Amino acid sequence: MSHPRTLYIILFIGALACLPCESEAVDLESRYAVISFEDQDALRRFNNELYMGRLGSQMRRNSGETIEDEVISKIDFIVEKVMMTLDMFLPQLKFFIVIHPDEKTVQRDFNEIYKVEVDYIAFYSPSRNTVFYSADNSSLRVVAHEIGHVVAENYFPISPPQRIHEVMAQYAEQHITD
Ligand SMILES: [Zn+2]
Repeated sequence: MSHPRTLYIILFIGALACLPCESEAVDLESRYAVISFEDQDALRRFNNELYMGRLGSQMRRNSGETIEDEVISKIDFIVEKVMMTLDMFLPQLKFFIVIHPDEKTVQRDFNEIYKVEVDYIAFYSPSRNTVFYSADNSSLRVVAHEIGHVVAENYFPISPPQRIHEVMAQYAEQHITD
């Protein structure tokens, strides 16, 4: 009589163990951002696209043993560089990053949130405090631009007007390699 019962218990444990496999996104936690990505390939492509150029030499050595470590240290480095450029320091800043495999998925999310069709390669949603990037279009300038929006939005108690927001993001983008 104990056999079927044991079987149930094994099945139940099996189901529990499988729960994490159902979630699509995996989270990485950096100092400033919680980064989710759809799969390892998207993260790897994002990391390759995010070429730091000569800024790479300013980053801490041995901060990139794995792709995960590399992405975390690049993002935190860019956040701090943008804060310095804009002269807006937010030691407690926390925001979210979603890395999508392609631009279509970024645009699908924009449409879901704002009900508007756009051809954006990346965007920041202030209401979700989340930046959406595409793994095939995440150059240093693109990443810095959106983080410029993040810093500007989180710095001011009242959101700056849209045009001023854009000016600050462009300033962060233009000066990221300084
Ligand atoms: Zn912008």
